[in-house]
Amino acid sequence: MTALPPPSKKKLGLVIDLDTCVGCHACATSCKEWNAGGIAGPLTDERPYGKAPQGVWFNRVHSYEVAATDFSTPGFDPGAHDALGLGSAPAAGTGTACSNVASLAQEAAQPAMTLHFPRSCLHCETPACVTVCPTGASYKRAEDGIVLVDEDKCIGCKLCSWACPYGAREYSEVEGVMKKCTLCVDRIYNEKLDEADRQPACVQACPTKARHFGDLGDPESDVSKLVAARGGVALMPELGYAPVNRYLPPRPRRASSAPPQDAGPHQEAPGGVARWIDRLLHR
Ligand code: SF4
Ligand code: SF4
Ligand code: SF4
Repeated sequence: MTALPPPSKKKLGLVIDLDTCVGCHACATSCKEWNAGGIAGPLTDERPYGKAPQGVWFNRVHSYEVAATDFSTPGFDPGAHDALGLGSAPAAGTGTACSNVASLAQEAAQPAMTLHFPRSCLHCETPACVTVCPTGASYKRAEDGIVLVDEDKCIGCKLCSWACPYGAREYSEVEGVMKKCTLCVDRIYNEKLDEADRQPACVQACPTKARHFGDLGDPESDVSKLVAARGGVALMPELGYAPVNRYLPPRPRRASSAPPQDAGPHQEAPGGVARWIDRLLHR
């Protein structure tokens, strides 16, 4: 099993704004394009033009319809619907509680909405994917906290993908090794690129500026200030892996005064903003 380095002061990661993500997949495709060449090696596909194509994607975007929710229902308990601690009061210094969604819970009602959830490695501070690895192939960098795979040491046992509770590992059937988001480590330190281009490909490609990159270990960084201002949350912090990436929750929507429409075949059962992500992560 693989040891972790001492906790790093620098914690590079992503902040993803679920309020402004439009589910366009530009982050996923730009990631694939960048990482299909260079030192990260190809992201392989099987039967790319067949009926059931399979392939390696470091970043996947899931879209959900969330039904209109009446939080004012007597007896409604936001905590009971709260995969992310969204209904809790903000916990000082943790950055894992969400005052915005707590205030959302105080709204009389929320209209139905579509939510897009980009999913990639969260570069956890105490990642199960590393400690479970029998060969040292999975490792966490001491200098900046990025979690990587050394494909030369990987034996393809898949233990790491079983251990990761976020579904962030991607196994290449073609190469027989595990892969994952590298935070574009070959871009962000690349002195051959203009300084403005030393960003992960997904951050650069996002047309709505929903993705932000920086040092979440520095409380004065732009990303840390953004998380503090918007009540950014870590996914499932109760598991203890201490994800570095943060998600900014959707802002409360203004409910229409029109009477509710027929729910239709694709509407989900009422349950609030958090239930969609709860279901995803518990698959
Ligand atoms: Fe490892 Fe999963 Fe955490 Fe990424 S999200 S560091 S793959 S446990
Ligand atoms: Fe380690 Fe590779 Fe096994 Fe994952 S698949 S646990 S990286 S040897
Ligand atoms: Fe969302 Fe930006 Fe990714 Fe498009 S590129 S899916 S808006 S995070």
